[in-house]
Amino acid sequence: MEEDRVLRLPLLITRGLVLFPNNVMAIDAARPFSVKAIEISRAECDSLILIATQKSPEIETPTMDDIFDTGVVAKIIHFSEQKGYVRIKVNPIQRVKISNLGEENETYVCEGTLLEDIVGDHKEEVALVRNITTMLEKVDGIAINMPKSLINQFSKGVSATELSDSLAHYLPLPVERKQAILGTLDVNQRLRLILEYLGDEKEIAELDRRLEAEVRRAAEKSQKEYFLREKMKAIKTELGESDDTGSIEKMLKRVEENPYPDYVKAKVKSEAKRYEMMPQSSLEASMILNYLDWLVNTPWYQMTEDTDDLKRVQAILDEDHYGLDKVKKRIVEYLAVKKMTKSLKAPILCFYGPPGVGKTSLGKSIARALGRKFFKSALGGISDEAEIRGHRRTYVGSMPGRIIAGMKKCGTANPVFLLDEVDKLASSYKGDPASALLEVLDPEQNFAFNDNYLEEPFDLSNVLFIATANQIENIPGPLRDRMEMIEVPSYTEIEKIHIATEHLVPKQMLNNGLENHKVYFEQEALLYIIRRYTREAGVRQLDRLVGSCCRKIVVDILSSGEKDKEYTVTIDLVKEFLGMEKFEDSEKEKEDQVGVVTGLAYTQYGGDILPIEVTHFKGKGGLVLTGSLGDVMKESSSIALDYVRSNATKYGIDPNIFMNEDIHIHFPEGAVPKDGPSAGVAITLAIISSLTGRKVKSSVAMTGEVTLRGKAFPIGGLREKSLAAARSGITTIIIPRDNEKNLVEIPTEVKEKLNIILMDTVDDAIAIAFGE
Ligand code: ADP
Repeated sequence: MEEDRVLRLPLLITRGLVLFPNNVMAIDAARPFSVKAIEISRAECDSLILIATQKSPEIETPTMDDIFDTGVVAKIIHFSEQKGYVRIKVNPIQRVKISNLGEENETYVCEGTLLEDIVGDHKEEVALVRNITTMLEKVDGIAINMPKSLINQFSKGVSATELSDSLAHYLPLPVERKQAILGTLDVNQRLRLILEYLGDEKEIAELDRRLEAEVRRAAEKSQKEYFLREKMKAIKTELGESDDTGSIEKMLKRVEENPYPDYVKAKVKSEAKRYEMMPQSSLEASMILNYLDWLVNTPWYQMTEDTDDLKRVQAILDEDHYGLDKVKKRIVEYLAVKKMTKSLKAPILCFYGPPGVGKTSLGKSIARALGRKFFKSALGGISDEAEIRGHRRTYVGSMPGRIIAGMKKCGTANPVFLLDEVDKLASSYKGDPASALLEVLDPEQNFAFNDNYLEEPFDLSNVLFIATANQIENIPGPLRDRMEMIEVPSYTEIEKIHIATEHLVPKQMLNNGLENHKVYFEQEALLYIIRRYTREAGVRQLDRLVGSCCRKIVVDILSSGEKDKEYTVTIDLVKEFLGMEKFEDSEKEKEDQVGVVTGLAYTQYGGDILPIEVTHFKGKGGLVLTGSLGDVMKESSSIALDYVRSNATKYGIDPNIFMNEDIHIHFPEGAVPKDGPSAGVAITLAIISSLTGRKVKSSVAMTGEVTLRGKAFPIGGLREKSLAAARSGITTIIIPRDNEKNLVEIPTEVKEKLNIILMDTVDDAIAIAFGE
């Protein structure tokens, strides 16, 4: 058992506020002892501070009995002095047990023993997370304050530890429940507490709805109005808003004084008049007010000025991203053309490639370089046209669509607007969102974009739209035709190391307040993280893991008390920080075997090797296929078998075998879905090998579609496939001759590791792969 690590630091006592690790929070401190604690922390303790919550907010000078004994140790990352109080932003690092409360220098000081999370059964964890996701969707309004990014995390299977803490942070839980979650170290138990809360909320919401319906039925008309008025008053007080008449006047004044388009001015005036005719407490009046709010706050005329300096753009792109030279060059060219031909409408850029290769962050960089605002709208899973174009405002609770909502959020008419995951748009009976997007992106139409809610045409022609996608094939055809496709390819290990050293490590050190500390990641250690803890085409996971290491270092600095301690992150340290490795080293077959061929696959996570196993046994000439195959892959297995059958004698196979035996083709890792024609040649070889008893070299991998006449047809994703081959210890790859033109895509360092052989037919592959 590791010895308990104890920190002695100033204590900040909060009222009604519970903090969770990794969830940054702003705190206003006014009580003198709190201000003092912050002062000492910043002056003497490297901005580290312990934070605990007091049980009852009324008590002015709490004692140990008045505070909850689980708190957090946090780093103050921002400080500002206000009138009569100080405002700080803190990044909570880890849970601590609070003890030995004492008073020193007019403030509280205490001991915090670092507490570690307990990770439980993985299956249970997955089930809990799934349940929570469903529940969040069911309880109206509960997820409203949560950032989209958090909700997106659910689908990505992010660590339950972080998820449980973030949920506890964002959900409107009462202090006691938050504190109970903070005090629970078992992560699954924490998830269970959250689920319990959501269950309660759901019941309350249902009860609420029932009661409201009953009350409404019973009420006389006058009572109903009274009820609504009272309710509205309550809502307004809650929101800190006062009477609305004043706000209408303010809106009218604002519209008069600013260069809104004439038709917007006219609309605001007429709606304001309508509003005044109405009883202020009526539902309709509040709908008009809401509408006016949108109308006035949509950026009709506000623009930021673009930087003209393309050198600066290039410099910023370089500063933010390693490599990607081709992509960056095309971005700069694109912007140059756009600048030169202001009147000519350039097509929309679409970055496509696997997750985590920097598509979004390129978009952000472009915005930064041009001095524009940035907005990202996630389109994955949208199946309702109204999500893009808004609901007509005759419906209660209607809203503008994503586009106008995004514009309002930006506050300028010329932001960089990222349409994320356009390949994940779905279409349903509620209309086709892709066709609505077409209108958004079409330069001939988008100067007068019609949002159903807004009613007045909005000019989108100043917006720089950028789309992103994982799989180009899944983008609806007409949409794809409107866009200029730019591939952002996956990274090699060497590129990943560069990205980590030059970008991710400095970024994570900054995020975790280590910028003034001496921390150095050894290249081998980074490579170890890449190989043993991640399996991805991009660097998202790597980024997270580097962050994890940094946080562990922060904790270590805290607990050792040595502020100037230097760190060199080695492989051993990585193992200590990140725990059990998730992946084995390269998984190529160790020995030459009969009936086992290594194919190469291209998935959305990048390339991978794809072992194929064939055996045959007594039967009636059937073909058995296993391993989650798609239709195309099944077809290509039949083609391979038919080719071998019709050329049996040529390969020295007894033709009777096809009548008396069944052939079984299996693609291991049965749970992972596989599809595509590119394994054809490999399947053919596996069948021949199995039926002739000839061994296949384990150092050889191949990819290529096969035809009924045994020709090898070209395939996609050569770059990713070759990276995977090299990574897995393959030394020779056989590819179709028609892919020769794609050889330039393969990075030199990979070419050096691989002997690449071009084939015209299956026989060419046989000559190389059979170990004879
Ligand atoms: P995508 O949008 O392609 O899924 P992101 O833009 O979210 O990926 O990238 C994930 C993370 O990896 C970001 O933090 C980004 O800054 C970083 N990253 C990706 N590619 C690079 C690169 N070439 N250089 C530096 N950082 C990168």
